[in-house]
Amino acid sequence: MKQAAKLSFIISLFIISAPAMAQTTRVLSPDSLTYLDVKLTDGKLSYSVGYRTVAKAKKKGAKADTLDVPVLLDSPLGVYTNVADFSKDLTLVETLRPEAAIRHSYHLRQGKQSEINSEENGLGLVLTTPKAKRSGVLMAVQFSVFNNNVAYRYRFLQGGETSSIVVTGEASGFRLPTDATAFICPQSDPMIGWKRTKPSYEEYYIWDEPATTRSQYGHGWTFPCLFRIPSSSSWLLISETGVSSSYCASHLSDATPDGLFTIAFPMEGENNGFGSTGAQLGLGNCKTNGHDEAAGFTPWRTLTFGPSLKPIVETTITWDVIDQLYEPSIDYQGSRNTWSWILWQDESINYDDQVAFIDLAASLGWEGCLIDGGWYEHIGRAGMEKLFAYCKQKGVRPWVWYNSNGGWNDAPQCARQCMHNPIVRKQEMRWLRDGGVAGIKVDFFAGDKQETMRLYEGILSDANDFGIQVIFHGCTLPRGWERMYPNYCGSEAVLASENLYFGQAFCDMEARHATLHPFVRNAVGSMEYGGTVLQRRLHREPNKGNTRRTSDIFELATAIAFQSSGQNFALTPRNLTEQPQFELDFMRQVPTTWDETRFIDGYPGKYIVLARRHADRWYIIAMNAEDQAKALTIDPSVLGDSVGRSLTTLLHDGIDGKSPQLSPLKLDKRGHLSIKLQSQCAAVIY
Ligand code: CA
Repeated sequence: MKQAAKLSFIISLFIISAPAMAQTTRVLSPDSLTYLDVKLTDGKLSYSVGYRTVAKAKKKGAKADTLDVPVLLDSPLGVYTNVADFSKDLTLVETLRPEAAIRHSYHLRQGKQSEINSEENGLGLVLTTPKAKRSGVLMAVQFSVFNNNVAYRYRFLQGGETSSIVVTGEASGFRLPTDATAFICPQSDPMIGWKRTKPSYEEYYIWDEPATTRSQYGHGWTFPCLFRIPSSSSWLLISETGVSSSYCASHLSDATPDGLFTIAFPMEGENNGFGSTGAQLGLGNCKTNGHDEAAGFTPWRTLTFGPSLKPIVETTITWDVIDQLYEPSIDYQGSRNTWSWILWQDESINYDDQVAFIDLAASLGWEGCLIDGGWYEHIGRAGMEKLFAYCKQKGVRPWVWYNSNGGWNDAPQCARQCMHNPIVRKQEMRWLRDGGVAGIKVDFFAGDKQETMRLYEGILSDANDFGIQVIFHGCTLPRGWERMYPNYCGSEAVLASENLYFGQAFCDMEARHATLHPFVRNAVGSMEYGGTVLQRRLHREPNKGNTRRTSDIFELATAIAFQSSGQNFALTPRNLTEQPQFELDFMRQVPTTWDETRFIDGYPGKYIVLARRHADRWYIIAMNAEDQAKALTIDPSVLGDSVGRSLTTLLHDGIDGKSPQLSPLKLDKRGHLSIKLQSQCAAVIY
């Protein structure tokens, strides 16, 4: 096999090859302000990243000085496989540099932005080791350097007879400056929690604590991971994207005392101990004329960083580096759904209560109604078919809950045994399509093993054949799935609204969590939170249940703060008579899909000012989670010169924070709005 042919399909745009790698190879982003340094020393490959600040030129006409601000210090790269250890004894076979910046232009149906144009400069390295040479297997590393973002992945290539390998782990690391603090969420033990359903990315964060803090369970931290670096006033978000059935999902280990995190694979005990913790990879092969083009890749690891939180809240790196894996079978739409279970719980999964929530959806003009777990026992298939017909009559699309089981935990709700087996699953999907069902919500997955990634992909792929969207609960973080799988809708993978019902302590923290998620969990993937609670007490009965601490306008603002194209809102029939009309009117028109998202101001867990645009309309939200009142000045012109004039309405909680009201928006002479938000209160401008 000719060397050139072997390399050409790492990525078709890599067309210039340099003979060898200099001591340190630097790649700059298209705006030259983000850098990646890669070096190969004593057979070990490592990288570091950061951004450059431009100091003012000392003399007129002199060149401006640039200063490197590192956010990730020299960190190891490499992969452990059953054919060779690709973390040491590496020699360089080839270096590939693309001739020009690579452009990514695409439409994203659901997410923070709809039309995306991003640019990267790339670097590809092909490496081997003395042991790998015997099997002919080569490791390539592909780096992509965008403005404020760096991503990399590995690819394994066939050079001899060996055409498949098992990956047992990675050396891939992330070394942070020692003063870094973290907003990160621990990985739980496997097979713990309710009915042995964990891990499900539903743990409490640590807030601004040293990055070297030991994780609660000793298994490290789930993606995404947000870090603050006080010494350089920088922020860094680390995550993963492009995880499909061909790999496992990973997380970060605990850091070493000097700040090195490494990629950690799933735990042995996940999926009730069944299935490998590693990944089974078919290798890329240039002799097969293109049909192995997608083979041999690991997921991407992504780094988003800069001197502010703006690149993190606005990043699209999660979707820039990946591709759609199949065509949508129909034109999928966003959906606002009523959802009886969240405040009326298991007892509401009966025919009459579901009729009440279908009626509620119809009276709000929403698209759907989610019928949650227990329908199989308490409504039955014949009853469901009657509900499907009632939905049709009311112009509301049904969404139906499923248990993902299978054989990996003890979650009892039905319907079970419908999603894990492709034969039964396809029959079920046909029944759903015939009933006019818009989507399914599948719950209680088994962890992050490749075994479980295959199940996620199987469900999504079969559902698309029948025009059905999919929400996952009790699940992993979506890793690029909004683009990879066009009928994917959203994932829980967060301590979500159900915890408001379960505990007062969670209600007391609601505002803090709401102002954290746009910077972390929701920055890299659709978050199906199930929010906007307008009842003061969280119960079916008016004087029972936990007490909500946030204001009404704060709850309305969460409908915009939390991004998912499918939103199961926590409104109940009582809200129709108890809430001010303007609150209901707001919920009647609030969108769930966005054309643009802009960060204006904020600090994770304290406050946020965020803008999202749907078609021609901008929505600006300001949310205060701190204990004391906060005075904010909002300048809509940061969104564009004429945006201030297009905004007409202000929703706020009154001077006391307890009098929700709608007012005409009045900007001052400078075109700004100055507003004081009481604790756990908010404003919405549109
Ligand atoms: Ca859950």
